Amino acid sequence: MRRVVILGAGFGGLELATTLSEALGDDIAVSLIDKSDAFVFGYSKLDLMFGRTTPDAVRLPYREIAKPGVRFLQETITAIDPEARLVTTDAGVHEADVLIVALGADYDLDATPGLTEAGNEFYSVAGAERLAEVLPSFSRGRAIVGVCGAPFKCPPAPSEAALLLHDYLSTRGVRDACEISIVIPFGTPVPPSPDTSEALVAAFAERGIEFVPGRRVASLDAVRNVAVLDDGGEMSFDLFLGVPKHRAPDVVIASGMTEDGYVPVNSKTLETRYPGVYAVGDVATIGVPKAGVFAEGAARVVAASLIATLRGDEQPDAYGGRGSCYVEFGAGRVGRVDVDFLSGPKPAGTFREPSTALVTEKEHFGSSRRARWFGR
Ligand SMILES: Cc1cc2nc3c(=O)[nH]c(=O)nc-3n(C[C@H](O)[C@H](O)[C@H](O)COP(=O)(O)OP(=O)(O)OC[C@H]3O[C@@H](n4cnc5c(N)ncnc54)[C@H](O)[C@@H]3O)c2cc1C
Repeated sequence: MRRVVILGAGFGGLELATTLSEALGDDIAVSLIDKSDAFVFGYSKLDLMFGRTTPDAVRLPYREIAKPGVRFLQETITAIDPEARLVTTDAGVHEADVLIVALGADYDLDATPGLTEAGNEFYSVAGAERLAEVLPSFSRGRAIVGVCGAPFKCPPAPSEAALLLHDYLSTRGVRDACEISIVIPFGTPVPPSPDTSEALVAAFAERGIEFVPGRRVASLDAVRNVAVLDDGGEMSFDLFLGVPKHRAPDVVIASGMTEDGYVPVNSKTLETRYPGVYAVGDVATIGVPKAGVFAEGAARVVAASLIATLRGDEQPDAYGGRGSCYVEFGAGRVGRVDVDFLSGPKPAGTFREPSTALVTEKEHFGSSRRARWFGR
């Protein structure tokens, strides 16, 4: 078990490579492969779209990774053979003793007709950068924050976008001339935490944001500027901020590893049905939301298991599916929801009221990972 190949250097891949390096150093050969040259935190996309930061400030270049036993390879993965544990990239072939798929979720813009022509998405860096150019000219009319399919990354993110849009338009003095609506496919904004949902719904009401629960945006009519919902209802808009439908990357689907769109795993160990092959994070069906903190937690369990195997120790505890997500409430305050998905009979969440102290805690969340993964 010396050659560990990690596909994807996102939350999951970075945490896995870091934990293995800390414990085993040069006793292990880790190849960490990603097509990008830099990592960007998911929540930075909100900061980018509202002009609170710049693209350069949020990019963490992979070339800065310097960890014993780990080499970063900027390559595009073109094929995965999970049975042979062989990975083909645009630069060659990698053989693995242990293979971890951490390739995240991609966006399927074509699944929502009209989204590209009439709307904008804020879930990619490019989309958020484009919106940073579009938003300054939006001064009147209706903005819709609309989710086009579930599951989607970071369930609180659409609610955060609506609240931050309110602040953004208020600061520009145009809020009274604008309406904001949010359409999400769940009955409440954050279903596992009724307290968080209640606080978000109250925040929408206080700010005059229309909340449309239990609906998905099925298509956009580019001629009439109308969003068509999954029940046939229509909402007109002047600005559409979309969360596109997600799916596993094509290369993962082509590998035959997926079922119902994502890679099924044992939620306790993150093992796939292929010996020596694991999947962590958004690419997998684990029973937890698609969020960085859960990808990171799953990666730690896989790392602990590999370390125990190498050292001949007992296997670690099963993955518990616990994580804390920070929620931007606007007005310079951040809330927090701590959720436990797997240890009880059903998911349970605890809400911490929005505060400026949690703004600082969220900053520390980012800076601690920057330091740990990139040595910054
Ligand atoms: C607006 C927004 C806000 C968010 N806020 C939060 C938050 O506050 N807290 C939180 O925990 N999460 C948040 N998230 C979610 C979080 O970003 C993701 O859930 C997390 O990044 C998933 O980690 P991962 O390791 O599974 O995949 P990713 O981090 O997506 O990493 C996958 C990697 O695989 C690479 N890749 C894909 N295909 C290929 C290929 N063919 N070849 C080579 N490389 C490839 C990609 O380049 C990428 O670097 C947010 C997301 C968004 C969009």
